[in-house]
Amino acid sequence: MNPFEYQRVSSTEEAIRHIGAPIGTHGAKFLGGGTNLIDLMKLDVECPSVLVDITRLELTKVEPTANGGLMVGALVRNSNLANDPHVIEKYPLLSQALLSGASPQLRNMATTGGNLLQRTRCYYFTDTAFPACNKRVPGSGCAAIQGFNRIHAILGQTDHGPTSGESCIATNPSDMNVALTALGATIHVQSAHGKRSIPIADFHRLPGSTPQLDTNLKPGELITAVELPVSRFAKNSWYLKVRDRQSYAFALVSVAIGLEMDGNTILSAGMALGGVAHKPWRSLEAEQELAGAPATRQSIEKAADLALEGAKGYEHNVFKIQLAKQSIMRALTLAARGTTAGREA
Ligand SMILES: Cc1cc2nc3c(=O)[nH]c(=O)nc-3n(C[C@H](O)[C@H](O)[C@H](O)COP(=O)(O)OP(=O)(O)OC[C@H]3O[C@@H](n4cnc5c(N)ncnc54)[C@H](O)[C@@H]3O)c2cc1C
Ligand code: SF4
Repeated sequence: MNPFEYQRVSSTEEAIRHIGAPIGTHGAKFLGGGTNLIDLMKLDVECPSVLVDITRLELTKVEPTANGGLMVGALVRNSNLANDPHVIEKYPLLSQALLSGASPQLRNMATTGGNLLQRTRCYYFTDTAFPACNKRVPGSGCAAIQGFNRIHAILGQTDHGPTSGESCIATNPSDMNVALTALGATIHVQSAHGKRSIPIADFHRLPGSTPQLDTNLKPGELITAVELPVSRFAKNSWYLKVRDRQSYAFALVSVAIGLEMDGNTILSAGMALGGVAHKPWRSLEAEQELAGAPATRQSIEKAADLALEGAKGYEHNVFKIQLAKQSIMRALTLAARGTTAGREA
């Protein structure tokens, strides 16, 4: 682990002033719960020269907004968010996704902002003994394409060969991000250049030719809050996570579904997949197919097929394509039955 300077700040302005140098491997980094960043520093994957501890900032509230949505401070811990009464009542999908992640101890530490920015669990990224990783060392290649790629992407990946310097088949490992995508959240950020808001669909990136960049956050930007729109899916939602162990494991495939229903007719749908792409994967085609359709096996199957259109597997993860289809069908069936009914199923 490399030496670094530690700075504790007590206001947003102070945090932005202290981050100064561009965020990056050797620049300054904000410190949230530290459950991802500190691990990566111990592994020499991340080597910031300065850590700006933001945990004293007053970004810890969960508050209804004037337009009927919910504003979540960037430092709200994952456990507090999952158990917040507003979230349980209006956004049970988010609560369910958060509670499926990590362990109680980790959720007590992990923050909303840090969860948004957690990095991939690709084995070759987290182990510096492997020289080829375009995300860790841009231009070095991708060990996963020809290697053990069981947890890797089946959608949205670039694949130009291991030596092209622009390939990455890593996945975004977060559960929370998948639910936030299905719910259509907005990320609020602030920097020395002012404030801006980013729809979550534009926040995380596909790898393209810059797999070292996970998000469209600019250098020096602090995430201050996550805003949820008016709740539409409280009565009919489901988060399904498929993993190797029931706890303490990342998703092989996960599905976040929210449905707005009138009887057995789906009026509108929000749907995102986790564990399958470099970013939470939203399928607008599947959502459009579901809008106005009856909640029947036929329409559910069609939506699942549409969501996986163009999917491509590798030696060890081709099973994920069928797994994702089946998971979508199950999650849609449970969501259509009703959030409470589904939980009891
Ligand atoms: C054993 C284990 C199992 C896990 N299992 C799961 C799981 O099943 N599902 C799941 O979703 N997650 C899982 N996680 C990951 C966990 O959810 C993340 O580590 C956590 O959410 C990161 O939040 P943090 O506040 O600790 O982030 P930190 O580690 O503090 O920071 C992460 C990154 O975000 C940046 N950052 C933090 N806050 C801000 C901000 N406000 N503005 C700008 N930048 C910021 C930091 O600079 C850093 O780059 C697991 C982790 C471990 C160790
Ligand atoms: S998949 Fe991405 S993170 Fe994993 S080795 Fe390849 S370039 Fe690195």
